[in-house]
Formats: sequence, C-alpha cells, structure tokens
Amino acid sequence: MASVAASRSAQAVAAGPAARGGRSSSLGMLASSKRTIAPVSAFKAQRTSSRGLAAARTGGVAVRASAVEDIKKVLTETSSPVTGKQYDYILVGGGTAACVLANRLTEGGTKRVLVLEAGPDNTSRDVRIPAAITRLFRSPLDWNLFSSLQPQLAERQIYLARGRLLGGSSSTNATLYHRGAAADYDSWGVPGWGAADLLPWFVKAETNADFEAGKFHGKQGPMRVENPRYTNDKLHSAFFASAQQLGLPRNSDFNNWDQDHGGYGTFQVMQDKGTRADMYRQYLKPAMGRPNLQVLTGAAVTRVHIDKAGGKPTALGVEFSLDGPAGTRLTAELAPGGEVVMCAGAVHTPHILQLSGVGNGSQLWEHGLAVAADLPAVGANLQDQPACLTAAPLKDKYDGIAISDDIYNAKGQIRKRAILSYLLRGSGPLTSTGCDRGAFVRTAGQALPDLQVRFVPGMALDSDGVSTYVRFAKFQSQGLKWPSGITVQLIACRPHSTGSVGLKSADPFDAPKLSPGYLTDAAGADLATLRSGVHWARELARQGPLAEYLSGELFPGSAVENDAAIDEYIRGSIHSSNAIVGTCKMGAGPADSVVDTQLRVHGVEGLRVVDASVVPRIPGGQVAAPVVAIAERAAALLRGEATIAGAAAAATVAA
Ligand SMILES: Cc1cc2nc3c(=O)[nH]c(=O)nc-3n(C[C@H](O)[C@H](O)[C@H](O)COP(=O)(O)OP(=O)(O)OC[C@H]3O[C@@H](n4cnc5c(N)ncnc54)[C@H](O)[C@@H]3O)c2cc1C
Repeated sequence: MASVAASRSAQAVAAGPAARGGRSSSLGMLASSKRTIAPVSAFKAQRTSSRGLAAARTGGVAVRASAVEDIKKVLTETSSPVTGKQYDYILVGGGTAACVLANRLTEGGTKRVLVLEAGPDNTSRDVRIPAAITRLFRSPLDWNLFSSLQPQLAERQIYLARGRLLGGSSSTNATLYHRGAAADYDSWGVPGWGAADLLPWFVKAETNADFEAGKFHGKQGPMRVENPRYTNDKLHSAFFASAQQLGLPRNSDFNNWDQDHGGYGTFQVMQDKGTRADMYRQYLKPAMGRPNLQVLTGAAVTRVHIDKAGGKPTALGVEFSLDGPAGTRLTAELAPGGEVVMCAGAVHTPHILQLSGVGNGSQLWEHGLAVAADLPAVGANLQDQPACLTAAPLKDKYDGIAISDDIYNAKGQIRKRAILSYLLRGSGPLTSTGCDRGAFVRTAGQALPDLQVRFVPGMALDSDGVSTYVRFAKFQSQGLKWPSGITVQLIACRPHSTGSVGLKSADPFDAPKLSPGYLTDAAGADLATLRSGVHWARELARQGPLAEYLSGELFPGSAVENDAAIDEYIRGSIHSSNAIVGTCKMGAGPADSVVDTQLRVHGVEGLRVVDASVVPRIPGGQVAAPVVAIAERAAALLRGEATIAGAAAAATVAA
C-alpha cells in the first residue's frame, strides 16, 4: 500500500479537481494512442504550479537537485486527473460491459464513477462503418495478442483480436447479435443465472428494429439490433436454397428460445440503420456529460490495490499509468464502501487480477508477487470458439457479383456507389461485416447445434481468414482485383476444449501468457465438429443453387481429400472466432470459480468482475449480447434494484 499512501500525501499537497481526461500511452507492444480529451483541469494545475516555480527562480532561490526531483514528482501527481477524488465505483476497462455499467450506475446522479480505459477514445470512422472491420484487425485499436506456440495446432501462435478503445470489443466486432439457446444458460448450473433469470435483461437492453416487442425482444433498450441492410441477391439466395436442400429448416429468429436453435437464416446485427451500434455509442456516450462520471482514456491499469492488513483482503483503489511503462504510477481511490469493478475483458481481467495478487498462489509466488487471495481458477477455463473455413472462386461468367466486387473496383478503390448508398440510405455493402447469413447445425445428432456456419459472399484469400486483408493489400499494390468467390466459415460454437491466461512476468506491460487450447478436449469432439463442418460445406457447395456459381475450391483445396488431410488442414489454419470467455467464472466456491453469484471475487472485499470472464460456459452464439445482459443485471444489483434471487426480481426491474 506504499503507493496509496504516497498518493494520499501528494493529494494533500495540492488541490486536484479533475475533468475527463485522456493521455497518450501504451500498454504492451502498442505505443501509438493519441491524447483524446484534454484534461483541462490538469493543465490548470500544472500552470499554477509552474507560476510558483518561476516566482521562486526570479526570487533567486537556489534549488537543490534532489528538490527538483521532488518537485517533478509533485507536479506529476498534482496533474493527475484523479487527485483529491474518491469514487464509489472504479471500472477497470472502458469496454462493452463497462459502457453499460458507467451509464446505469451514474443514472440518478449520486454515485461517483471512474472509467479507466487503456486505449483511445472512440472516434474512428473505421469503427462506425461495419465493413471497415477489415481495417481493425491488428490495428492500433486492437491489442494485437498472440498465444504461446500451440503444439497441437502445427506449432502455430494464434492471433486473438480484442478491442482496445472506449467500447472495447463491441467496437471492433462483427456486430452479430446472438444469445445462444436457453439451455446454454441452464447448463451453467449457477443458481440465479439460468435462462429465465437472464432473459428479461436481454429484452431490457434491446431495441429491435425488426421484431415486435414481446417475450424475446425489446423496443426500449439502448442496444440497437436490426436485420442486415445489405443482401447479395444471387449468392445469399443460393446459400439459403442449398442449405434447404441439405435438409436444414429455415430459422426465422435465432434468438427466439421457443424455437430450436438449429437451421439456416439471417443473423441480426448490432447496428442502427447500417452503422455500428457499439456500446460506447449506445451507453457511454449519452452519459458522458454527467458530473458524476469521469472517463480517462490512455489509462492503463497496472494493478488493484488490495489491503491485507485488516483481516479480509480489501480493494482500496487501482494503480494506473497515463504514459505507458515509463509513466508515473497514479492511484485512483475508492470512497468508503466503494468497489473496483473489473471490466477489462476475458484476457485482461484475469491478467490484472494476477498482477494484483489474486490468482493461483504458487504461480504468483513464482513471479515474486505477494498473494492476496489464492484463487486457482483465475485465468483458467478459457473458452473460445475455434474456426476453420472453406472457400471457392466463382465461375468466370459470374465474376463481379461478390461483396468484394460491390465494395471495390478493379483497382481496389472503394466504389462511389457503395459510399453513397452507405451515406444516403444506410444500406449497401459497407453496412455488412460480411458474415451475417448462416446456420447452426448438429453434425452428429447433438442436443444443441455444435457447428455455426457463417456464409460470406466473398472469398477468403488466406485459410486463417484474417490474413486475407494482408493479402488483399498486396493485391491492391500490384493493381490486382480481389477475386470473386465465397467463403464458408465453420465454427465449433459449443466447444469442449479449454485454455488459459497467465503471467509471462510480473511486469504489467508484458502481454499475458495466452493459450486458447483449441482441440485439446480428450474426446476430440471439437476437431470432429470442424472436420464434419468441412464435409458439410463441401456438400453445400455441391448443391445445385451454389454449384451453379462455383468453380472448384481454393480452401482446403482438392488435394485435401481424406479425414487425415482435413485434420491437418484444420490444425494448420484454425483461428479464433473471437468469443473468449470463462477466465474468472462464476460459481459456488473458491476452489473452482473466481466470483460468486453476485459477481464478487471470492475472499476479497470491494472487488467484482463484470465482463465476459464470468461466463462459466460459452453460449452457442457470439458473446456481446450475453455480456450486455450480464452488465445490465449487475448494474441493477449494484443499485439495489435487483437481487440475484431469480427471475421475479429481474422481471420487476425490466418492466
Ligand atoms: C474481432 C471480434 C469480432 C467479434 N464478433 C462478435 C460478434 O459478431 N458478435 C458478438 O456478439 N460478439 C463478437 N465478439 C465478441 C464480443 O465483442 C466480446 O465478447 C465482448 O464485447 C466482450 O466484452 P467485455 O466487456 O468482456 O470486454 P471488452 O469489450 O473487450 O472490453 C475490455 C476493455 O478493457 C480495456 N482494457 C484491457 N486491459 C486494460 C488495462 N490494463 N487498463 C485499462 N483498460 C484495459 C480494453 O482496452 C477494452 O476496452 C467479437 C470480438 C472480436 C474481438
């Protein structure tokens, strides 16, 4: 607690009113965030102090060298935008869950909330335009995380995308709106967190443009959901007709839990008339002017201060830097009874907890970290949905009908008509992240579909999907056009394998040690799902409606024939579909979970987790909607408006 004490004494030296602020900083390998919101009062504090110094100089006072260091320290600390403040809630991370909490917790104006986000503000046009997702992978708005070498995946390191800006991964994701099936939540076996308990929160959060309000959909929530506003008439129709010929039923609403989760159809998207409706735009931005909300960007949290002196370990505040590894470590302090809420996502929340002494005790000791709470489940149980793909070019006579052709001309320039359609009507190919039609399939008669199919009316240029955009850039530089084709992405949507998040070192600016653990389940069920997926996609491509358009196969390619070759292809090209959860799972006790049913960290006062980390088992769709529902419910719990007793309390609030 030395730095809390140091900070407190610095705060006594200087007044420090602070406004919203943002600083250039970096965490880990990234160093390019720009200052986003000038911390006005911080400048004021600096100017006042500088005038004082000038007066001292003109007065001819000789200043000791050590005093200069002292003064620099005081200047830095007095320019801190949190000096002299205490908060009821400090939210670590400004992502999906944090945006929901920041809005709900500051409604009504009594609670003081601080949001600390490592990345920059959310102002990029590439975030707003759904099709520009291609520019967000491996960009400065992404954490650029890679796993350790995965022996079972042809010794590859897997790229794991995570949003790094206000809005978090909701600002860089594919915008698909999925909840999975009711049975996913019931399978958690956590009292108070079954499907019936969570459903009202999904509905409360949502404004659905295309479904009527009712049991499964809402019309009054901040989250905007709608049908995709781009249709590729020929290729989408051919996909649907081929899926039907394979015997799949049409699913009119994948989020209607009265219907089976299987079938083919349209995936709804988190968009508002064709623009990304991320949680920054929908929840945080409207709350930004509230006097009880302070948001700092470029603020990398390095640990939670946990006091162990008074018996039960208790969170007192957090340490953060506004200037990356070299920056002074500042302290944001909790008011009495306040709470730190971890919202840094399923990779960084466990990492920061570990750095704070909350985790597997023996592993923390190995890194020289004092143990505040020995919780072996921190960082364990990582679940993600692994994916592979098939891709096929179109026949020459159909060249020019893919989504890539609707966006780019032959020189690789964005077509004017695509831009005008987006700007004037909120429609056209720029509103699409490409993968908003698809299916859920049982590959071997499972109780719930094990395979999600995402059909893309454009061709992957690399078998790992994401490297497609790197290849396209090379095509562009050589004046070549993106070849017309289709892609079928195959996702093990209810996977059995688990991985982990751990420490590489005790340096908070070192990236976490990551292992997604794909294809490590003992029974080989995940590999079986993906292998069956490849067979399914090939069968789909052989159906008349799609076969009419296709000419051969690019991936896996005709040389990949038997199951052994398909398995090798999968291991060599498997990639993330970006649904990481589970690394601080909720459960009954500290032996195998991290938080209790109220989302409180076992054994630590004043510390909760509200983000994708708490999900015990991945639902069979994408994860943003469940995270928002959990955050809505957590906010009501913190406001004393709901209990985790069950559906009755939740429904009262939702009404
Ligand atoms: C490329 C991609 C595509 C996806 N596609 C879909 C989809 O189509 N549909 C869907 O439902 N889901 C999708 N997801 C998943 C979904 O978006 C996430 O599961 C969800 O947004 C996670 O929310 P969260 O609050 O747990 O974390 P995040 O939204 O990731 O927020 C965590 C925040 O914490 C910040 N942070 C981390 N460390 C620190 C630190 N030390 N100090 C301060 N701040 C820190 C991060 O910068 C980030 O802003 C996708 C995700 C990605 C990355």
